[in-house]
Amino acid sequence: MKLDKDIDAIGDDHVGTSSETPLRKDAFKLTSSEKIDIIKDDVRHIMETLGLDLTDDSLKGTPNRVAKMFVKEIFGGLDPETKPSASTFENKYKYGEMLVEKNITVYSTCEHHLLPIVGKAHVAYISNGTVVGLSKMNRIVDYFAKRPQVQERLTIQIVKELQQVLNTEDVACVIDAKHLCVNSRGIRDVDSSTVTSEFGGQFKNKATKREFLDYIKLDTTF
Ligand SMILES: [Zn+2]
Repeated sequence: MKLDKDIDAIGDDHVGTSSETPLRKDAFKLTSSEKIDIIKDDVRHIMETLGLDLTDDSLKGTPNRVAKMFVKEIFGGLDPETKPSASTFENKYKYGEMLVEKNITVYSTCEHHLLPIVGKAHVAYISNGTVVGLSKMNRIVDYFAKRPQVQERLTIQIVKELQQVLNTEDVACVIDAKHLCVNSRGIRDVDSSTVTSEFGGQFKNKATKREFLDYIKLDTTF
């Protein structure tokens, strides 16, 4: 059995335990509106415990607003039904070079503190005959970002999904993000950001990796 203090240490060190989001088997037994109803009461309970007066006009709507935001927005990517459809196209113009979609905005949530992770994702692939619409890459990033996350897992999930959609190993992703749990509390380091990367297939080659990093101009040695 893990002690509470060990569990706390995992969270404080931001260590993830798996590349799959840890979901229970019965995660989708309840409908979205049933979840919102339950979470609404939970949020009210937290606020009341903190001593807040929930009859105040400004606070009255907060439990429902937060519950809806959790289920429909910031954790909406837990629901496989919201996954972007995998429409791909044939690579008619035979473009065989690297395609880089950079500066994709990432809004995610740290699963250890439930505070925002805000940053940029840079995604690249080398087509083996299949291409995706550019906005599809943004949507895939957003889908996996809208979960309680650790940045490493988010990076891996984006690469795995694109590898499957594009039917190639040649996919890479770099994420550079700020964690508000680090920037605004705890050690309060306002300027630090975290860089994670996952390189598949040809991107493991030094020259290919270098080319990708040159495109995104990220001065980091991996
Ligand atoms: Zn955190």
